Amino acid sequence: MSIVQPFSESYQNLLYDESRMVGHAEYVAFPRDEAGIARAVRFCAERGVPLTAQGSRTGLAGGASPDGGLILNLSRMDSILGMRQDAQGRFFLRAQPGVTLAAIRKALLLKAADVSGWSAESREAFAGMKAGEWFFSPDPTEPTASIGGMASCNARGARSFLYGATRKHIHALRVTLADGRVAELTRGCEKARGRDFTIHTEDGGALSGRLPDFDTPLIKDAGYYIQPDMDLIDLFIGSQGALGIIAELELALMPAPKSLSGVTAFFPDDDAALRYVSAVKRFRPQPASIEFFNGDALALVEVNTDPDAPIFAYTDYGLAMDCGAFLREVL
Ligand SMILES: Cc1cc2nc3c(=O)[nH]c(=O)nc-3n(C[C@H](O)[C@H](O)[C@H](O)COP(=O)(O)OP(=O)(O)OC[C@H]3O[C@@H](n4cnc5c(N)ncnc54)[C@H](O)[C@@H]3O)c2cc1C
Repeated sequence: MSIVQPFSESYQNLLYDESRMVGHAEYVAFPRDEAGIARAVRFCAERGVPLTAQGSRTGLAGGASPDGGLILNLSRMDSILGMRQDAQGRFFLRAQPGVTLAAIRKALLLKAADVSGWSAESREAFAGMKAGEWFFSPDPTEPTASIGGMASCNARGARSFLYGATRKHIHALRVTLADGRVAELTRGCEKARGRDFTIHTEDGGALSGRLPDFDTPLIKDAGYYIQPDMDLIDLFIGSQGALGIIAELELALMPAPKSLSGVTAFFPDDDAALRYVSAVKRFRPQPASIEFFNGDALALVEVNTDPDAPIFAYTDYGLAMDCGAFLREVL
């Protein structure tokens, strides 16, 4: 049976993401593995059909709302595939793109995963990981986001203030290109020479080109990442599925912080809040995140006391330090 099905009424919910931009589509495919992705991509390439990749459809920018053609929904590629430990003792988790952030967190917190299909090396690394506390820091607020979607839009979130955006925590990718060929990219291994690049594909071929003449601003990098001599894995992270479909990822884990504490402080005006931010940014250890809620935002939370109303939740990841004395000094 073909992996590609005609689009039907029963898939109406796939026509939009959290942006609520409603699109349209003629086909849909739910691959379960990399070969399925390649078949769907080739179907589109041969017929000139546009393709929209979908993870969990939690994106707020409409990137997963289809504009005609085929919806490539990756939510059924939701297995954690294995684990590895390198010579420096760091752990790396390998996952399919449809694995949610919530599932990754749960596996690391409970130190439990379905290891039935894993290699002996993976099981051994997983057993070793259990001796410590490890975490995957990217947190774009919405835990149902898929890891493929997070990599594709280089998701950030409050904690990226300390730990960096998703890009920094992706060590390797397997990517299906627009003609169905597959490339594996590992951080530090495949680099552009100036603005010229070559990506080697697993069939022994290569794709060469020249990067455009702009550099991505390094402060808030969203969208295409372009820098001379760049690591080519970064071309795909942030490209929103336009350059290839992420079929597999290797995530770099970090030792979990030993303690977390949170602080909620109220300020008389915006200037005082900004002075606080400037001061706290110089403090060591650095805060993990700082979130700002103005009076209107707090009023929204207060108004929604109806139990059937949508819940406005906020998370205070706080500061990894004992900050009582420091706060008294700043305030
Ligand atoms: C309440 C809420 C709060 C949020 N807060 C933040 C925040 O603070 N910071 C932040 O950065 N984001 C935030 N987001 C957005 C969040 O980053 C995205 O929701 C998430 O990262 C996207 O993951 P997804 O699986 O839902 O991807 P989707 O929405 O399904 O897709 C996102 C993009 O990635 C592409 N894509 C998806 N999977 C693949 C794949 N395997 N290969 C290639 N392309 C793919 C899609 O085509 C689309 O362009 C928030 C979302 C919500 C709902």
